[in-house]
Amino acid sequence: MSEQKTNKKVQLAIYWGAACGGCCVSVLDIHEKLFDVVESADLVFWPIAMDVKYHHLEAMLDGSIDITLFNGAVRNSENEHLARLLRQKSKVLIAYGSCAHMGGIPGLANFFNKESIFERVYSEAESTVNPEGTFPLPLHKLNGVSLRLPEFYKDVFILNDVVEVDYFMPGCPPQSERLLEVLGAVFSGGQLPPKGSVIGARDKTQCEECNRKKSDNKKIKKIFRSHEIMDDGVTCFLEQGVICQGPATRAGCGTRCIVGNAPCRGCYGPPPEVLDPGAKMMSAIATMVDSDDPEEFQRIIEGFPDPAGTFYRFSLPASILRRKVI
Ligand code: SF4
Ligand code: SF4
Repeated sequence: MSEQKTNKKVQLAIYWGAACGGCCVSVLDIHEKLFDVVESADLVFWPIAMDVKYHHLEAMLDGSIDITLFNGAVRNSENEHLARLLRQKSKVLIAYGSCAHMGGIPGLANFFNKESIFERVYSEAESTVNPEGTFPLPLHKLNGVSLRLPEFYKDVFILNDVVEVDYFMPGCPPQSERLLEVLGAVFSGGQLPPKGSVIGARDKTQCEECNRKKSDNKKIKKIFRSHEIMDDGVTCFLEQGVICQGPATRAGCGTRCIVGNAPCRGCYGPPPEVLDPGAKMMSAIATMVDSDDPEEFQRIIEGFPDPAGTFYRFSLPASILRRKVI
């Protein structure tokens, strides 16, 4: 990693909103290169790894953080408060990972409403024991003491719904090599792309980087889940009838899942010419189904469970649909 042009270290913050922690772990996945990072950067805020409080962040001067990697979606009022605060304190705000970029896995909650989620989690779940039917409230008063919890929103939002994002870095999580490239560019004072760009990814599709054998005339009679067939390890997954989201997904991960004999799940989001990855995949599959008989066509399509959850696995809050109307 190249040296900074000035002696001043880059002030770096990392935060998670509605996230699983995988994006924070992806920063650690750069292994010994972390020493290069701390040589060039001061980590000023990273709650998962440092004992740092929100009032420390509030006390920082506006714009004093050079770069913030915000991972996770915006699910509650605490996520939103921190997104706004970090926007105010940061020169460059990066939506890091699928959840901040497009809603990611937490964004699948937009297929449900707040009431049904609470019912499932606090009442019905097999591991829940809640005989008094206690549900979380934003404000609870007990013996003269007020206890506050963040307000759980009706929808999952992407970071850019709440604050202006400078760059989007896709992936669930982003590949460590891409993170090193991005940090290397920042540390060396290199020219960053125009604001609003997707960084740490390519403009082409996964299919363009994939080495599996493909023909021009893909036709399928049945849609399989990965565990239902023996992958031959060579032929395009779609041609074997297994859903692979390569045609609607940006390259940049090094086709890592496909190299590991698993189909692409779409975490890098759509390439520039694709507006809505779910719609693109549905249209791709519809053209591949090998039947002119409406009933057979219907049977083949219905044999595939949860198409909406599959095609919008990482992108529902950022899609044209945005949520299910309930
Ligand atoms: S993008 Fe993936 S790894 Fe990162 S927080 Fe979301 S679910 Fe976790
Ligand atoms: S659909 Fe998947 S397996 Fe087929 S070429 Fe594209 S990325 Fe490769």
